[in-house]
Amino acid sequence: MNRIKEIVGSLMLTELFKGLALTGKYALSRKITVQYPEEKTPMSNRFRGLHALRRYPNGEERCIACKLCEAVCPAMAITIESSQREDGTRRTTRYDIDLTKCIFCGFCEESCPVDSIVETHVLEYHGEKRGDLYYTKEMLLAVGDRYEADIAAAREADAKYR
Ligand code: SF4
Ligand code: SF4
Repeated sequence: MNRIKEIVGSLMLTELFKGLALTGKYALSRKITVQYPEEKTPMSNRFRGLHALRRYPNGEERCIACKLCEAVCPAMAITIESSQREDGTRRTTRYDIDLTKCIFCGFCEESCPVDSIVETHVLEYHGEKRGDLYYTKEMLLAVGDRYEADIAAAREADAKYR
């Protein structure tokens, strides 16, 4: 019986008409395809992209070398070395993140008591040779300096949910 149904269906081109009906339905509906990179989808304030180290408005780096981020990182992607400055404060002498190890879990950001290490909305970056995605303190501070306005705006928008 099934075989007969298949033969009749095949002769009547039912599969073809079903396919055409589906095509027609989507041809007339609202388009959801995004023409990336010219068009972009909205991004959450909590989006976890490229890392950055932030500074205070007076230019002082926020990080106090507490190493919480290093301890909490499940991928062991963060390496910190620190020393005490002449004024008695402690600062990092080395702060590296190996982005090839990072799984973008956001734990480092969550653990930081001074909002120093953050993840930005930057997702369009790449490396072309070994080591390009090994971000040093200087590179992370440079990212922070460049995107501070965006970072601050995203954190302020998200503050009431934290
Ligand atoms: S996002 Fe997660 S994996 Fe990446 S550096 Fe931070 S804690 Fe480590
Ligand atoms: S970035 Fe934050 S959590 Fe990590 S060492 Fe600096 S102050 Fe501590």
